[in-house]
Amino acid sequence: MSGKRKLRVFGILFILLLTGFMVSAQKVNTVVLDAGHGGHDTGALGKHSREKDITLAIVLKLRNYINENLKDVKVILTRDNDEFIELYRRARIANENKADIFISIHCNSNPSSVPYGTETYVMGLHKSGANLAVAKAENAAILLEDDYVEQYDGFDPNSAEGNIFFSMMQNAFLDKSLDFAGRVEKQFKEKLNFLDRGVKQAGFLVLYKTAMPGVLIETGFLSNAKDEKFLLSDRGQEQMAYAIFKAFREYKGTIEKWNPSLLNKEDTLLSNPKPSKAVTENLKAKASKQKESVTSNIEPSDSEVPQASKTTPNSPPAIEGTEEVIYRVQFMSSPKDKQIDSPEFSKVKDVWKYFQNGLYKFTAGKFDSIKLASAYRLDLVGKGYADAFVVPFYQEKRITLEEARRLAGK
Ligand SMILES: [Zn+2]
Repeated sequence: MSGKRKLRVFGILFILLLTGFMVSAQKVNTVVLDAGHGGHDTGALGKHSREKDITLAIVLKLRNYINENLKDVKVILTRDNDEFIELYRRARIANENKADIFISIHCNSNPSSVPYGTETYVMGLHKSGANLAVAKAENAAILLEDDYVEQYDGFDPNSAEGNIFFSMMQNAFLDKSLDFAGRVEKQFKEKLNFLDRGVKQAGFLVLYKTAMPGVLIETGFLSNAKDEKFLLSDRGQEQMAYAIFKAFREYKGTIEKWNPSLLNKEDTLLSNPKPSKAVTENLKAKASKQKESVTSNIEPSDSEVPQASKTTPNSPPAIEGTEEVIYRVQFMSSPKDKQIDSPEFSKVKDVWKYFQNGLYKFTAGKFDSIKLASAYRLDLVGKGYADAFVVPFYQEKRITLEEARRLAGK
């Protein structure tokens, strides 16, 4: 082998090694903590508590744990005081900061005072009416926003259809979201002795717009006296935050391939929290608990939700003709007209525009199924169009998803 050729071979080997290193070196360096509700949106109300106060208290404590124990992690809060933040803005904060994970903290509520315990949700199809009810209750926060019809593309938080549509989106991050959610519920159960009601799926708007793994944690029922007492107490909030912190550290350790049990043996603020009286009392009622396993709540991934890995977002097959319903990904709207071949749109394909309600709306791609359009949407989100969403058209007119389903079914 000549010297020159040797050099070239080593050069190629070096590049291969470097690429391998870059692929494996995944980091969890930025986390967005989202305290549910705030301002004129109180969230659920207990006898003595408001959800917005408890979620903020837990988030602030969780931030302290991460800051004290994981120095390489940047913690960003969607709010650190009692202010109203729209759901889409919460997601945008996470997207703009290129967060590695999004953790939304909430409290549950039920018309009955009996249910208690925690639930951790990932974005997906609700399997039960109960899951849908939780998603609807959390999504209803958008009714307190001024321009929610435009921001969420006419989404009606009370319609089951809408909830199904939104649940089809976040699939690319499902594995990691499920992994983290499982760790959270495991901590609640093992370290907190809290009743873990399991990992569940439902269509939460706040998760739908985030372009990273994300979970929504219902930390307990304010409608249950014992849960409420626990969540209202400083110690209860501390323990809840600590359990989520441990799950986060485990998750980070797994992604980054180090063993979290070898590090930070002594956590700075609290070690091995004892369950409070409220929790212990709740445990006595555990006998009647119906165990829901992690897997039993997860929809088969092939049935309805798009599998990003099985489609090819970079080269989705476009279709011709106008006799079928087609799906485009809307990525921008503007009061000013723009040329569709503008250099501004160089990163997107098949740009097309239409005019509606005083705005020029720009779409990309053209697909015969919502699955492919959803996969391409994720591609666009990755290119910086964090608010992109899928819209159906029939004969070049925008239609609703319900109409699209009806037309597709005939
Ligand atoms: Zn909530």
